[in-house]
Amino acid sequence: MITNLQKEFWTQLTRMHDRLPHAMLIHGAAGVGKLALAERFAQLLLCEHPGQGAKPGQGANPCGGCEGCRWFLAGNHPDVRIVEPEALALVRPAAVVEESKEEQAKEKKKPSLQIKIEQTRGLADFLNLASHRGGRRVAIIHPAEDMNTATANALLKSLEEPPLGAFFLLVSHHPARLLPTIRSRCISLPVPLPDPGASVAWLTEQGVRSPQRWLAFAGGSPLRALDYATGERGEAIERVLRGIASGNHATLGEIKDRDQLEPLAEVLQKAALDRAFAALSGRTKYGAAVVPGDAHAWLSYARTMGRHRALTHHPLSPKLFAAEMLAGMPKN
Ligand SMILES: [Zn+2]
Repeated sequence: MITNLQKEFWTQLTRMHDRLPHAMLIHGAAGVGKLALAERFAQLLLCEHPGQGAKPGQGANPCGGCEGCRWFLAGNHPDVRIVEPEALALVRPAAVVEESKEEQAKEKKKPSLQIKIEQTRGLADFLNLASHRGGRRVAIIHPAEDMNTATANALLKSLEEPPLGAFFLLVSHHPARLLPTIRSRCISLPVPLPDPGASVAWLTEQGVRSPQRWLAFAGGSPLRALDYATGERGEAIERVLRGIASGNHATLGEIKDRDQLEPLAEVLQKAALDRAFAALSGRTKYGAAVVPGDAHAWLSYARTMGRHRALTHHPLSPKLFAAEMLAGMPKN
């Protein structure tokens, strides 16, 4: 379980169990297990027989066997609501999502990458209903930065006047992008990167080959490393890394699909940072490139690639976009 890599954080979280704030902002790098921690905590809040940890000081744990836990684990607890962009809800196996999934299938539209205002308004209605189990209601908002101002303001109303027994768990990879008024209503809980040794052991358990390498490429985030090692994205990344190592950049530009742009921009960004790090300190961070280069030029290129990563979902010609990224690469 990914949450086992975050034992200290879990203990800290569950210590608040007796004097719970109604809104918590669980934030940290992507892939460190924030959502899994929020979900487990939601289960604990809804558990009818929360037990204590096996060792003193390890905090409480959901029992796993009561009706609340069973419903939660089956993905149909009526007192929990997960609010997330449609694009994420579509890949979620559990059924604790808004009805958007079905609507989406019917309409065959491109799924939204943003949380919609109807979702946060629907949340207010849900929280104002009496709870089914006579206790708490929990809303998980993930990722909380994927809300525009109008949507965030609709959520703010619920945060400002929370109905009795309502709890908000906001999960964020980029808390600085949240409205300050939202942030100030939440207790801030930073989730650290797990210990690298524990992450490598966990990745090995998941059947990942070369766990150290993927963990490095993921900047130390185990879930991200798992995603790279097992998904299509990993194959795209491998291809780009091979192209960079061989110096044959021409093959890198052979991009037909928009989905291949983001992995390309990511690898170029990380390889550029590694070349700058290698020049500055003799050490690399991501294992994406080992040859030192002109630090100033590569840092500037890495910044450009960072900006490009944010643009890859927008409509544009994938081929031209890839060519532009590759053409800007420093010569040495
Ligand atoms: Zn339970």
